[in-house]
Amino acid sequence: EELVSALPALDEREVEASLRPKALGEFVGQPKVREQLQLVLESALRRNRPPDHVLLSGPPGLGKTSLAMIIAAELGTPIRVTSGPAIERAGDLAALLTSLTEGEVLFIDEIHRIARPAEELLYMAMEDFRVDVIVGKGPGATAIPLELAPFTLVGATTRAGLLTGPLRDRFGFTGHMDFYDEGELEQVLARSADLLDIALRPDGGAEIAGRSRGTPRIANRLLRRVRDYAEVRADGIVTADIAHAALAVYDVDQLGLDRLDRAVLDALVRRFGGGPVGVSTIAVAVGEEIATVEEVAEPFLVRAGLLARTPRGRVATPAAWAHLGLTPPTAGGG
Ligand code: ADP
Repeated sequence: EELVSALPALDEREVEASLRPKALGEFVGQPKVREQLQLVLESALRRNRPPDHVLLSGPPGLGKTSLAMIIAAELGTPIRVTSGPAIERAGDLAALLTSLTEGEVLFIDEIHRIARPAEELLYMAMEDFRVDVIVGKGPGATAIPLELAPFTLVGATTRAGLLTGPLRDRFGFTGHMDFYDEGELEQVLARSADLLDIALRPDGGAEIAGRSRGTPRIANRLLRRVRDYAEVRADGIVTADIAHAALAVYDVDQLGLDRLDRAVLDALVRRFGGGPVGVSTIAVAVGEEIATVEEVAEPFLVRAGLLARTPRGRVATPAAWAHLGLTPPTAGGG
């Protein structure tokens, strides 16, 4: 398991589920999205109609899945969960859509990765609550229109920009999720510590929050590793000192950068002299897909002031050089 990765490890899903906020009022941070969503839901409840389809965009681990579940809970409806890559054929999606009950929430994670034929089927389903099911092949094939029960689609994506125009246009509301600040992460941690029965002192929470990469999923994971350390090496109480010592054992750096973040910075600074260099070149250098570099690593590096996206390519900031313990070449020297 990679300690600070923003993507969930398989065995962590259960713990994560237990830590999920269950109501909008329990959801920490994202005040803008929360307020907007509250209006969308409240108004739908008053009109007694399913709300418009909702798109949630933002980096992994910020609470998109949690919000989707909260939407269903607030509406008092069941939720069906799937993901873009899991929907391989339009027929699979048609079967799923026709099985939805009235008002149900359908959550599609990574919706930008849905196969094109399925996506096209989704257009009509979202707009008219109807699908055409194709029966047979070749010239004899016929389209049988089927009515769907009105439902609410909640889509999640790490990059709204990758969605096709027609798909994006069919969402009545898009919530843009941003990284959490340290105060918000401290609240997330206090809540989780309560649920997990961990004796977390405020200074311990602050220490963990500062290294959580702006991401609740990572904060919760670090909390559990620090708890392990506190129980084995101390009296179980998580203070700033204990958290500091524990995070040193787990190689979590001062900014909470993960392996990929560090690899990207390292390539940018050491191999390409700090840039500017294209993202595809960086991706090859770190052995990752371009999309992973762009969607998982870069948003936080930009937010942390370590990397800048310029028209000529990616550039390491002086803070990035300093973070790696290096001195940037003097400006104007070339
Ligand atoms: P995403 O779908 O964006 O990858 P998740 O909804 O799966 O993120 O969130 C990951 C974990 O982080 C959840 O299990 C939950 O414990 C925690 N979490 C995320 N957002 C919040 C929040 N706003 N308040 C409290 N916990 C949160």
